[in-house]
Amino acid sequence: MRIYADNAATTSLSPTAKAAMMPYFDDIYGNPSSLHTVGQIAKEALTDARRRIAAVLNCAEAEIYFTSGGSEADNQAIVSAARLGERGGKKHIISTAFEHHAVLHTLKELEKEGFDVTYLDVHGDGLITAEQVRETITDETCLVTVMYANNEIGTVQPIAEIGAVCREKGVVFHTDAVQAAGHLYIDVQRENIDMLSLSAHKFHGPKGIGVLYARRGIRLTNLIHGGAQERGKRAGTENIPAIMGMAAALEEAAAHIEENAAKTAALRDRLIAGIGKIPHAALNGDAEHRLPGNVSFCFEGIEGESLLLLLDDKGVCASSGSACTSGSLDPSHVLLAIGRPHEVAHGSLRLTIDHNTTKEEADYIIDAVTDVVASLRAMSPVWRDLRNGKRDYII
Ligand SMILES: *Cc1c(COP(=O)(O)O)cnc(C)c1O
Repeated sequence: MRIYADNAATTSLSPTAKAAMMPYFDDIYGNPSSLHTVGQIAKEALTDARRRIAAVLNCAEAEIYFTSGGSEADNQAIVSAARLGERGGKKHIISTAFEHHAVLHTLKELEKEGFDVTYLDVHGDGLITAEQVRETITDETCLVTVMYANNEIGTVQPIAEIGAVCREKGVVFHTDAVQAAGHLYIDVQRENIDMLSLSAHKFHGPKGIGVLYARRGIRLTNLIHGGAQERGKRAGTENIPAIMGMAAALEEAAAHIEENAAKTAALRDRLIAGIGKIPHAALNGDAEHRLPGNVSFCFEGIEGESLLLLLDDKGVCASSGSACTSGSLDPSHVLLAIGRPHEVAHGSLRLTIDHNTTKEEADYIIDAVTDVVASLRAMSPVWRDLRNGKRDYII
């Protein structure tokens, strides 16, 4: 048996998305830049995908740029806003301490160039407020970049409110919506979003394809130079099969967004209640403003890595921290940002389910986690010290 509970790392390809891709591997292999019929058929498909994706996000086709994924979209959004700011003498950026590394590492590069970045403190519940953004904006601020939903603890930020503050102050607002797209209803107009990143493989589309939405009037800076694809802003022959798969996956997700979210959230809450019965376990992030599929816990007295390996033996695919940080012994920057001390942050578990997860699977996961935590604690010297009162419980 295998239960996949790592949908924040990547998702399965939906059969609909796969079927939408197949013709573009076979008959419709043209290059959209070619003037002949084979190329023009591919170009029509490209235009159609752009129109369908724009419709889901409620923006114009000309505001959609295809990229190689979420990381590239984040990089291009941030660099573009920075270059625009720099031209107007503005070199201050506002972000948060718990962004994805695609955002954080891009900001670090800009800091080396002399940009000043304020990382807003995330509250213990894993949320920031629009008020914090308002208080931090100065005349020098050229960009606010705040993720829509966190990939580790699943908290969903008040994006529309932050967008309203940025619009009022005339500051460009970017959101990394990679975890939210296809899972939460997004409307870039209503939420005052100027730039947004998404990635198909996080909503049952293919890997290696994403979108940067940039509102008309925001001039993008090229990261990749070459041909005139994507209105000259992103060179390289378009990955038509992946683009068609992404459009199909996004439309499919959007069509079922409410029922999928309700079904997934019910199982999420079942998992949270079941795992929450384990002593000295604490849910990470707010229970309410949370992605429908995210369950994230810290357990006192154990190591997240051993937890994952033993869960894998029981057929449960889970994660601690983010996929990019596993393999390193540093505790997750997200858990540290919400104030978890190092020793507790090490004992973390992230389960990310989706609408394909069943009640039986959720119950199996609860039993497996309960067993594994108990057996690891039975071997843990830290746990013995906690039990003997030689050490104080943190959670
Ligand atoms: C997965 C992820 C990314 C990176 O997307 P890729 O398409 O894998 O490059 C960026 N931000 C968040 C929040 C993510 O979860």
